[in-house]
Amino acid sequence: MKQEILLEAAQSLDPVSWSQLNQLGHRMLDDLFYYLETAGKRPVWTKPSQDAKDSIQEPVPENGLDTTALYELFAQNILPYNTSNMHPRFWGWVQGGGTALGMLADMLASGMNTNVSIGDNMPMYVDKQVVEWSKQMMGFPDTASGLLVSGASIANITALIAARHHASAHIKSKGIRAVPEQLVIYGSAETHNCVLKGVEVIGIGSDNFRKVPVDKNYRIKTDELKRMLVQDRKAGLRPFCIVGNAGTVNTGAIDPLHKLAAIAREEKLWLHIDGAFGAIPKLLPEFDDELKAIEQADSVSFDFHKWMSVNYEAGCVLIRDAGLHREAFASAVNYLALHERGISAGPDGLQNYGMELSRNFKALKIWMMLKAYGLEQFRTIIRQNLQQAQYLASLIEQEPLLQLMAPAPLNIVCFRFNPGNPAPTELNPLNKEILMQLHEEGIAAPTYTLLNNQYVIRVAHTNHRSRQKDFDVLVQAIIRIGNRLTGS
Ligand SMILES: *Cc1c(COP(=O)(O)O)cnc(C)c1O
Repeated sequence: MKQEILLEAAQSLDPVSWSQLNQLGHRMLDDLFYYLETAGKRPVWTKPSQDAKDSIQEPVPENGLDTTALYELFAQNILPYNTSNMHPRFWGWVQGGGTALGMLADMLASGMNTNVSIGDNMPMYVDKQVVEWSKQMMGFPDTASGLLVSGASIANITALIAARHHASAHIKSKGIRAVPEQLVIYGSAETHNCVLKGVEVIGIGSDNFRKVPVDKNYRIKTDELKRMLVQDRKAGLRPFCIVGNAGTVNTGAIDPLHKLAAIAREEKLWLHIDGAFGAIPKLLPEFDDELKAIEQADSVSFDFHKWMSVNYEAGCVLIRDAGLHREAFASAVNYLALHERGISAGPDGLQNYGMELSRNFKALKIWMMLKAYGLEQFRTIIRQNLQQAQYLASLIEQEPLLQLMAPAPLNIVCFRFNPGNPAPTELNPLNKEILMQLHEEGIAAPTYTLLNNQYVIRVAHTNHRSRQKDFDVLVQAIIRIGNRLTGS
């Protein structure tokens, strides 16, 4: 028997009582403001409790839960166990701390719920404007193009796809074998792993990423690069791209970018610069010697969510040749064709410039933060961070129990506890244990890396909330824990 057709569906996902949810929403906002304002008063990290982990493990719910109870579940079991990168003593990996304004902007964007990929709507124009500003920040010409993406990882892959298209426009349709010679790409041994992942994804294979050795300052050795280029060409391979680092993830080293630009020009290679956090000091004239050459690159990646403190996620890729950028990604699709008028008119669809079709309105928080603070306030914060990193390095150098493990040219400081008596082989586990106890005590959150197989505690400082005394607290805690562990 045919089922009866319901003439009126009386259900939606809107609240049963708008005013009740509105009230709860205000409570959430109050709680989040308090959470941000008092971040420094809490431990920088609290291990997620077993109760909290248990509380979320259940089969996919069949029936709904009251929203107030749901929020209380969040407040009790999720919020307290954050990686608190908004804490003044959070310096882990490379993570920005976000802002209260960014949080509000995200709420506005989410309320609009725009899919910023296509259509004649204002978010599309805001997105375009933020790309214009990004070009100005990096000294790229007006004619360049760009795309806001989740972060530098995707920004780097996007640039690599453009670089591959530059090597051969046939690869897009014919595949990598359209170029009979093996394509080869170059970057320093300190290049971020996401670039290698990108090289894998675009079909070049990470074995064909040449890890060029670095000097004692962790900068690419350009003579080695040249030697490798000659050798590879002789072997019948086809170099196509150089990746320069503006701020390596381990130590913040800036490759000699002007030299890389000259080599790329001579050798007719694409120059991409990974400037995830280290391209941001380009805003400071005192970095002209080191970062001005970004302006000569074919593409550059950087993050707004690291050293610009925009709330996660927000990254950007810029590509000098807008036509090539579009060609590398565009395809004519019936259901995405632009119209002359109506909702489907408007700017060129952003799916023509990257892999994503659905995109959120991440441009709004960037636009609002740039408008609210202006570049001058960002410059002040960046200089403050640079000075604080130097202050930390000087504390370490003055302290006989600590050892600076790499130059600190930017905002990254690598060091270890070394009382002199344990054998060097014991220093690695000792420093790892110090770091874990530091986290467990909730005092501060630097992280770690290995430099020449030596475990180092690593402070990556993009934190606008840190004050000088926070670095005193860090140093004192590490010495106290180190002494405790070595029985001194
Ligand atoms: C963080 C980082 C990346 C990756 O950026 P995401 O925003 O995390 O995707 C790439 N390169 C460098 C140098 C980085 O520091």
